[in-house]
Amino acid sequence: MALTLTRPDDFHLHLRDGDVLADLVPPVAERFSRALVMPNLTPPVTTVAAAGEYRERILAATPAGVDFTPLMTLYLTETMAASEIKKATASDFIHAAKLYPAGATTNSSAGVRDVGAITHLFEAMQDAGLVLAIHGELANPSLDPYEREPRFVDEVLAPLVERFASLRIVLEHVSTQHAVDFVTQAGPNVAATITAHHLLCSRRALFAGGLSPHHYCRPILQTEADREALIAAATSGNPKFFLGSDSAPHPRDKKESGHAAAGIYTGYAALELYAQAFAEAGALGRLENFASRFGADFYGLEPNSAEVTLEETSWQPPAEYPLGQQTVVPLGAGESLRYRLRP
Ligand SMILES: [Zn+2]
Repeated sequence: MALTLTRPDDFHLHLRDGDVLADLVPPVAERFSRALVMPNLTPPVTTVAAAGEYRERILAATPAGVDFTPLMTLYLTETMAASEIKKATASDFIHAAKLYPAGATTNSSAGVRDVGAITHLFEAMQDAGLVLAIHGELANPSLDPYEREPRFVDEVLAPLVERFASLRIVLEHVSTQHAVDFVTQAGPNVAATITAHHLLCSRRALFAGGLSPHHYCRPILQTEADREALIAAATSGNPKFFLGSDSAPHPRDKKESGHAAAGIYTGYAALELYAQAFAEAGALGRLENFASRFGADFYGLEPNSAEVTLEETSWQPPAEYPLGQQTVVPLGAGESLRYRLRP
């Protein structure tokens, strides 16, 4: 059986920079019409000018004849001026600004220590209608890693939502029932992305057959009950929940190390991985809205018109993909996937 759907958008993606763009952009551009590209490079993308240059490098790595639009993000810092938000909104290519609590994830050391220090930026974003995308974890190293998202929701997000009642907020890569419940009960200005790996895996996968660094990500994979809550949200038809893969490749040696880097690579077949999760939940008919419509609606973008087709056919991803001079181990290596993109 084949499944044809409107070309989807990925509202949370890491493409990194430099020679790896040639490996990371093509598989995404083949599947997705647009992708919201995260700004956590070194140094981070903190200006409209830097975002514009990064966008050009991504377009240069996009295969000829493929219709793909990178949507850019700004990395919020405590030293950013509100004028940068105004500039971003006036540009036609910046669609969100990203809040990284300092130390919460890869390349987040320049992030925000105290959200009270960027009130001026939240005000500017609310006035201008720029979306705030949030990595929703408290970064305090003394906290239990499984508590970081729930505590962020209660201690940072809830007061923020109350104070900025019309700021459009996306809580990225929700991983817990608690976060799903918060987003569900919040107003229509609050939404969430859900990754394929959080839909497919619980923390069991981290420990199955020995500690697996390739299943380590932030926020960390949670309990089976949390995963079921994410499946329920993604397949509910509630437009607050939409696709953001958070595909986040690291070279193999950075993962298979004494201190494994956080991030899971799904970009080689992200749509197929989502289809697998929806099919397992008996909700394949709900995939199109989740993948191709709800995110665009929230971001105020025109719906896509072209289509992609997935064929139901079992295949095994390779053990690794090229990543510049190195390689990356994909989610699903050594396993069978159920869908494959029709070229
Ligand atoms: Zn991310």
